[in-house]
Amino acid sequence: MSESIDKDLIRQLLDGTISDDDVQRLQRMPDKDADRFWQYAQVLQERVSWDDQILLRLNDHLYVVRDKAKNRIVKCDCGHEFGDYRINWKLHSLVRVRKTLDEFKKVYAPEPACPEPEWQEIREFYCPNCVAQLAVEVVPPGFPLVFEMLPDLDRLYRDFLGKPLEDEAPDWYEDRSEQLLAAWGQKLSS
Ligand SMILES: [Zn+2]
Repeated sequence: MSESIDKDLIRQLLDGTISDDDVQRLQRMPDKDADRFWQYAQVLQERVSWDDQILLRLNDHLYVVRDKAKNRIVKCDCGHEFGDYRINWKLHSLVRVRKTLDEFKKVYAPEPACPEPEWQEIREFYCPNCVAQLAVEVVPPGFPLVFEMLPDLDRLYRDFLGKPLEDEAPDWYEDRSEQLLAAWGQKLSS
């Protein structure tokens, strides 16, 4: 294998078509390729139809990107924008909640594997535009939405990738979900 990971292998890795031998070779490389993140980012970028810079992939459909106004936002591969990445994107998604055993049985089999109704609920989150399922959480009723990932992007790019982002600032790494919830609360009470 060449010193630098072949981009085609990364494409195969993302598609799930990579051979077992190639996976093992990737895993056993004594020195991990320093370019790997950048090649990965390029492969991701060539797969989306928009050109906002991908800073990090969050899951199969969502990315943190830098938009034209230099905001760091969460964006779906379909192009839908969820806003500031410091606010839990789930607050801007479509949510389906399953509460009853009958509803659980549609997604769990066999039945004994189902969560306990009333003690747990299943929340499914969907993109409001393309309706891709973006996440699922199984939690007690009333439990706050799980904020799965608030990456410290400045630190990642500066300390681990060696290429600091030009707009580094201490307030990029803070959870602002509460601010949105407070604003909604005010609207409700006014
Ligand atoms: Zn979407």
